[in-house]
Amino acid sequence: MTRAAMRDDTNPVSLGRERDERGSNALVPLLSVRKLRKNYRSGGGLLEVLRGVDFDLDQSGFVAIVGQSGSGKSTLLHLMGLLDEPDSGEVYLSGTRIDNLPAHHRDRLRNTDIGMVFQSYHLLPEFNALENVLAPLMVRYGVLEWMRRKTEARGRARALLERFGLGARLHHKPRQLSGGEMQRVAIARALVSQPRVLLADEPTGNLDEASGAEILDTICELNREDGLSIVLVTHDSAIARRADRIVRLAAGHVETI
Ligand code: ADP
Ligand code: MG
Repeated sequence: MTRAAMRDDTNPVSLGRERDERGSNALVPLLSVRKLRKNYRSGGGLLEVLRGVDFDLDQSGFVAIVGQSGSGKSTLLHLMGLLDEPDSGEVYLSGTRIDNLPAHHRDRLRNTDIGMVFQSYHLLPEFNALENVLAPLMVRYGVLEWMRRKTEARGRARALLERFGLGARLHHKPRQLSGGEMQRVAIARALVSQPRVLLADEPTGNLDEASGAEILDTICELNREDGLSIVLVTHDSAIARRADRIVRLAAGHVETI
């Protein structure tokens, strides 16, 4: 039995989705961008950040994107995560174009299929750890469905936090947590919807070395043991070497290293 076949939606810690194996052609990359261009207007000038980027992430792949500060790594990740729109070019998920979908459809995909983690965690300060992890499901379900599914959702969120060693921190607010703990809450939040891909933007950038190493180990484990497909942005080549493949962003283009 494959790792994927062992996954089960009733298992709260299960991250995979059988439909990826059932419904999609293994030859089609999970996530692709084609001829992606993004400019910013600044001070009357035009800053060409991405000048025609092509990129593929295979199902269960783990790719690191490296590049100097300002090379456009976050810009690229935001476009892949549908947080921003390209000036031209395309983004595909399992072969389906997603960048040109209506806004409500893109919001939905971001909520269900794309997990994102950022350097600065972006937790809601008034919510405790458990509530932060549950937030995407509350948004997705709406009031009536939330009432029906609340128990199951809380079980799933709690199981994820326990898996990441935060079983004793469920009711802590972000200000009561360390940086490493906040990032583990953020990873649990990114995974609670069982996304098809995790996009991480310098997830260890604000952490001390030991906490950063723990977060990196967690991300690697999610790929190796759960088969989660991951794009990791980092300026640190030692971190990038943990991925299966490294691509460098420079002068608006990507090259495989
Ligand atoms: P990286 O993540 O590799 O450090 P970014 O993608 O954040 O790079 O930024 C790439 C370039 O685009 C930088 O020069 C940055 O200043 C510029 N930039 C990013 N976002 C904006 C924006 N919203 N408006 C104008 N310029 C921006
Ligand atoms: Mg950045």
